Amino acid sequence: MINLLDLDLDALSATCERLGEKRFRAVQLFRWIHQRGAAEFGQMTDLAKSLRDQLATQAVVAAPALLNEQASADGTTKWLFDVGGGNAVESVYIPEADRGTLCVSSQAGCAVGCRFCSTGHQGFSRNLGTGEILGQLWFAEHTLRRRLGLAEGERAIDNVVMMGMGEPLQNYTALVPALRTMLDDHGYGLSRRRVTVSTSGVVPMIDRLREDCPVALAVSLHAGDDALRDQLVPINRKYPIAELLDACGRYLDAAPRDFITFEYCMLDGVNDSPEQARALVRLVHSRVACKFNLIPFNPFPQSGLMRSPRERVLAFASVLQDAGLVTTIRRTRGDDIAAACGQLAGEVQDRTRAGERLSRPAIRLHPADAGVRH
Ligand code: SAH
Ligand code: SF4
Repeated sequence: MINLLDLDLDALSATCERLGEKRFRAVQLFRWIHQRGAAEFGQMTDLAKSLRDQLATQAVVAAPALLNEQASADGTTKWLFDVGGGNAVESVYIPEADRGTLCVSSQAGCAVGCRFCSTGHQGFSRNLGTGEILGQLWFAEHTLRRRLGLAEGERAIDNVVMMGMGEPLQNYTALVPALRTMLDDHGYGLSRRRVTVSTSGVVPMIDRLREDCPVALAVSLHAGDDALRDQLVPINRKYPIAELLDACGRYLDAAPRDFITFEYCMLDGVNDSPEQARALVRLVHSRVACKFNLIPFNPFPQSGLMRSPRERVLAFASVLQDAGLVTTIRRTRGDDIAAACGQLAGEVQDRTRAGERLSRPAIRLHPADAGVRH
């Protein structure tokens, strides 16, 4: 059985062609699935009965099975999906006054192993398929439309961020058809500026994304020097900051936005001093057009790290702002249901023993960095 959620419009057209159908039939089918949320071929009344019958024996429209839903006091909703083999991943819907955002997962676990990230501590099990990535949006969009009683043509989600579990650029082959379907006018019709891939810095894949499917790019920087970034975001040992910033510069040529967003998780006593803010300014100024998004660290058991106090975050932001860098501080949403950035943990059958590795103290800086507690 083919899962039609695995196919972007080109792949669906090829499948329809094999069944002897023209491309416009694939467009109709695609619209039924993604725009109307149909999963039963019997519903698709404008398709020929013979095609519907053929599809019924060869294809399904199947999102990952829902295991659990949790609602936060602030309106944030978190869904847990079963992706088989004892693995489960999470998606988070964040309603705001002017938009609805869905935070989507790309992997069961993550192999990058950032110290401050709950997914990183779980280790890695496997990549999600296109249908498992897209199925999160398909499910969320159509569930919310029904729930919110939206009229035909109105949508619940107009902003997608690949900021759930996993490193999207380490699952590139499955990611790109999912992104294309999000952007497709016959699919979700989202603006390129409103689909964001967030990466820890997989440099060669940043270059490929620029060629294949440029969408908004967020880069998780978290440190302004290699010694510290090596500790916090281990992929930095492979692709150090200078290479990462060069890739960001190249990406801007094709990017739908004229800046890269740098995410910076504020860790008490680790990366939050005014000197570190000044070093950051020196690093990026006149090199990459960027905005900073400071994320107050969301604690979870085993991290051994603490959130920077509010005053320190504000002082850090001021240094960046005074140097002319647009800087925002991310509002924490859904932390009462562990749905905030970095708290998504789902269920991962770790094949990498990451938990074990990360439970060892690894941040060894200068003695002055007494704020780090293991
Ligand atoms: N793997 C990708 C996307 C998923 S993480 C990446 O790393 O960019 C999404 C964002 O949440 C990243 O910026 C990540 O650094 C941040 N994050 C991870 N753990 C966090 C935590 N405990 N508190 C706050 N932000 C966190
Ligand atoms: Fe993976 Fe991103 Fe978490 Fe790092 S922050 S471990 S790259 S999900």
